[in-house]
Amino acid sequence: MKTRETTSHIIGNARVPSTSEEVIEVLNPATGDQIGFIPAGTPADASEAVRAAREAKTGWSRLPAAEQAGFVKVAARRLQENARELAELVTLENGKPFDDALGGVEAGVGTLEQYAELGPLHRGKSLQGNYMAADAMIHVPYGVTAVVVPWNDPIAIACGYLGAALVTGNTVVYKPSEKTPLSAVQLVEMFELPDGVLNLLLGDARAGWPLVAHEDVDLVLFTGSVETGRGILEVAGRQLKKAVVELGGKDPMIVDERVDPAWAAGEVATGAFANTGQLCTSIERIYVHASIADQFLQELVAHAKALRVGDGFDSETEMGPLVDEGQRELVHRHVREAVEAGAELLCGGEVPDRPGFFYPPTVLSGVRSGMAVVDEETFGPVAAVEVVSSFDEALKKANGTVYGLAAVVLTPEPEHAQRASRELSVGTVKINAVFGGAPGGAAEPRKASGLGFGYGPELLDEVTTTKVIHHSHASRL
Ligand code: NAD
Repeated sequence: MKTRETTSHIIGNARVPSTSEEVIEVLNPATGDQIGFIPAGTPADASEAVRAAREAKTGWSRLPAAEQAGFVKVAARRLQENARELAELVTLENGKPFDDALGGVEAGVGTLEQYAELGPLHRGKSLQGNYMAADAMIHVPYGVTAVVVPWNDPIAIACGYLGAALVTGNTVVYKPSEKTPLSAVQLVEMFELPDGVLNLLLGDARAGWPLVAHEDVDLVLFTGSVETGRGILEVAGRQLKKAVVELGGKDPMIVDERVDPAWAAGEVATGAFANTGQLCTSIERIYVHASIADQFLQELVAHAKALRVGDGFDSETEMGPLVDEGQRELVHRHVREAVEAGAELLCGGEVPDRPGFFYPPTVLSGVRSGMAVVDEETFGPVAAVEVVSSFDEALKKANGTVYGLAAVVLTPEPEHAQRASRELSVGTVKINAVFGGAPGGAAEPRKASGLGFGYGPELLDEVTTTKVIHHSHASRL
């Protein structure tokens, strides 16, 4: 697929070209080939999208909740019907294996369905006031909502924010990542909403920044890097508007003594290499107890070496490429600097001589704080292992970071599990499983990993503001 055509924004249900000729190339990370162009975006483009959303907001907010939810249900159904086609686009522009991309689209369908069910049930409270008065706290939409999202799980993340914002009566300007814009266009086409209720603004920071900083945007829902999130909170602070920001992580996994090293290595490999390490909850730091470290490392290296790396469209592929050259340079720099500072490279760590942005599953041991691979988000397939001599040391090191998204602890000791649950300063603690968790669970990230609930039923509280109504009786003539 090669095209020199520039994809347009979708504003008020119409294709609207950018006000500028500046474009961004969209690449297939598995080959490096160009697969499309999108506008870079301008403040005027952002203003036009916000204007459309603003014009639509009164009409949309007045619809009964069940009708708003009905529109989202239709989108969920159409997304399900077109899931494979959309997943192909995700693999094409993001690089992830097709089954993973399909899983992401299906997660998006599930989220839209859930919010369509939950939206009309999102209750306020009635209050006990005077006998002749009615007092209530009701949820009302904020209004124009900017949804700005990353490329790493583009459909699932977007569907969460879009579903929650729309079923509660907000109108939306959705700015997908410039790295995965083509699947976003197709996602927006799944919605059949009144004009201006959902608008697609393409581009990078040149579109995103004027959008989030626009005075007529009432709420920002953002998932992405710490740096961008901090800038968004600054502008939101100045304008006193609400922003939910779900940011980066540097998740630790503690491997305690007396766990089966082979099992632990499997959990770490899954956590570190899934999505080529490009998950906010990827396992990036591993603190393994000295008593099992040697066998654990051997098993981890065996897992890393056995992973089949390739094009996401090849059904044999278990791990795809990194998203682009910039990401690969960052990952490789973290690995190289760690080795120069004394870490041992047990496998991987070489940029392969092939087209695309591939990087091998990599295992480092002997890492320590002070190395970028331990202190900063790497976002690549790198398992950085430090051997520790006690559970206390592991807990302390796991907490020794600016990030606070999630953490995993593998331990057979109930007291250690309990202490980890209480003492780790993260939003999510997983004991004895790297992924998983019951539906409906939602957490607030800690420290630099963000602010607010980015998913789950609580997101409905985030996208609405509360009003108290005191309704007394009038004195008639
Ligand atoms: P990013 O911050 O570079 O970009 C995210 C989005 O913001 C993109 O749409 C981008 O175009 C836009 N953007 C960039 N600069 C902007 C600006 N100045 N103003 C407004 N918008 C701007 O992040 P990314 O590289 O796309 O995503 C990877 C990051 O996302 C990682 O740090 C990862 O951990 C994080 N992430 C977090 C979660 C979570 O739930 N906490 C989930 C997925 C990804």
